[in-house]
Amino acid sequence: MSFLKGIAASNGISIAKAYHLVEPNLSFEKKTIENPTKEIERFQNALNRSTTDLESIRDHAKENLGEDKAAIFDAHLLVLNDPELTNPIEDMIKTEKVNAEHALKEIAERFVSMFEAMENEYMKERAADIRDVTKRILAHLLNVQLPNPSMISEEVVIVAEDLTPSDTAQLNRKYVKGFTTDIGGRTSHSAIMARSLEIPAVVGTRTATKEIENGDLVIVDGLKGEVHINPTQEAVEQYKKEYEAYEIQKAEWAKLVNEKTVTADGYRVELAANIGTPKDLKGVLDNGGEAVGLYRTEFLYMGRDHLPTEEEQFESYKAVLEGIKEKPVVVRTLDIGGDKELPYLQLPKEMNPFLGFRAIRLCLEEQDIFRTQLRALLRASVFGNLKIMFPMIATIDEFREAKRLLKEEKEKLTNEGVKVADNIEVGIMVEIPSTAIIADAFAKEVDFFSIGTNDLIQYTMAADRMNERVSYLYQPYSPSILRLVKMVIDAAHKEGKWAGMCGEMAGDETAIPILLGLGLDEFSMSATSILKARSQILQLEKTEMEKLARRVLEMSTTEEVIQAVNEAVNGDKKTS
Ligand code: PEP
Ligand code: MG
Repeated sequence: MSFLKGIAASNGISIAKAYHLVEPNLSFEKKTIENPTKEIERFQNALNRSTTDLESIRDHAKENLGEDKAAIFDAHLLVLNDPELTNPIEDMIKTEKVNAEHALKEIAERFVSMFEAMENEYMKERAADIRDVTKRILAHLLNVQLPNPSMISEEVVIVAEDLTPSDTAQLNRKYVKGFTTDIGGRTSHSAIMARSLEIPAVVGTRTATKEIENGDLVIVDGLKGEVHINPTQEAVEQYKKEYEAYEIQKAEWAKLVNEKTVTADGYRVELAANIGTPKDLKGVLDNGGEAVGLYRTEFLYMGRDHLPTEEEQFESYKAVLEGIKEKPVVVRTLDIGGDKELPYLQLPKEMNPFLGFRAIRLCLEEQDIFRTQLRALLRASVFGNLKIMFPMIATIDEFREAKRLLKEEKEKLTNEGVKVADNIEVGIMVEIPSTAIIADAFAKEVDFFSIGTNDLIQYTMAADRMNERVSYLYQPYSPSILRLVKMVIDAAHKEGKWAGMCGEMAGDETAIPILLGLGLDEFSMSATSILKARSQILQLEKTEMEKLARRVLEMSTTEEVIQAVNEAVNGDKKTS
């Protein structure tokens, strides 16, 4: 048995066989061939096998993930059987006497460049389809296996270098019992998705893909951040017991599902949930969420090959507003970029994507995309209690411009006779230190703040949230972060506005006592953290936490802060 240490990313324990989600090596050399007829046969054979693959992936996706996720595979089948692509490949094999791999790559690249150069968005998207299909045919020519996460049909633990949000969206909860990755941190999007899907996960192990073989028995301990490879029978038994103890604890928390969140001395706060799709609403209601504090709309744009239409978006927003039954829903406008890519937008590669053309920066430039989303939101606003929030705001001008576009779209809709709610609150995420520092100026113009600590910490500490090598710098309890949080909350309250937090810190048991003391109004977290947080808050006294907050703001290190919280909450003088 061997053992890996990583970052505990999603609570729970799972025991299952490893499934490697790793891109195989598809490199090859150009060769001259003797017998073109035989080579063409080999190519056609690869085409047939790719068709069979794609048909069964499509049918499986339809059944397990829905029509919309399956549509992408229909598009791939069309490309695969298009003679405009296959005929020139066969011609090249015949006339130039080259191997099928080379001919495929040459011709496919010509088409990819041609489609990428087109103005029309739809045609541009075809380039991504051709790339995917080429990869599949090539894998068959080289006799290597491509991973197909949507085809998994037995209980597994996924082992990957990293999981993109769209990989994660394709995972079927029924079979995927846990996952572990080489890279990533607690706030990387794969970790956030794992929490919303309630899949135990350990990320940032550095070597999981090297140490774990396909089919190894693996225990993922998402509570301690440990992965055990081919454990002994005793270890499996021990983990089964721990799993049961965890389930008993969860059953205790579950009793609080209909309780209000009120401290022991009678101070009320709101516990909200972060969601990525309307499907997550069930988890919010099952876990006693009092609102949706962050709806990450970018997931609507992922795992597909073209932009969602206004109508599709309208349906999703309406479903969330209606599904949560009058409770507030804070919808964040498109936050793409960083570790969230949209292949079909084909944005140029950047040296520093987390500091680049993302979120509101992209939306203010690509106004068609932004306006479509704003219209869909405004139309949905009459179906519930909608609040709109702009991500990654760095300057007041950005906020004013976004608000201007919102106003314009609202006027257009009203002129068209479409009903729009007139009490929609408009706020911003505070994720960039510049915004926290002048929160007093922002507070005069926004209706609310939601502090996005996942990014605020990485930008304040200059430590990439995805990079496990600098994860020691990713310090939510650093006095520097706490002071920024205080500036934001105080600025909001001075103007009679509310301040929430939707970064992962809002659900963290060491941070919660301090945040309560600082006066945070709304705590938005993974739905699965809500009941545990409620159980903790019911036992705390706001007045005591205010004293704690005052003390920690004067401290110099994270360790001192942790120690002070432990003393205040558990009366613990020794632990750190
Ligand atoms: C954040 O940055 O804290 C946040 C909630 O946004 P995301 O994790 O989607 O970047
Ligand atoms: Mg963010």
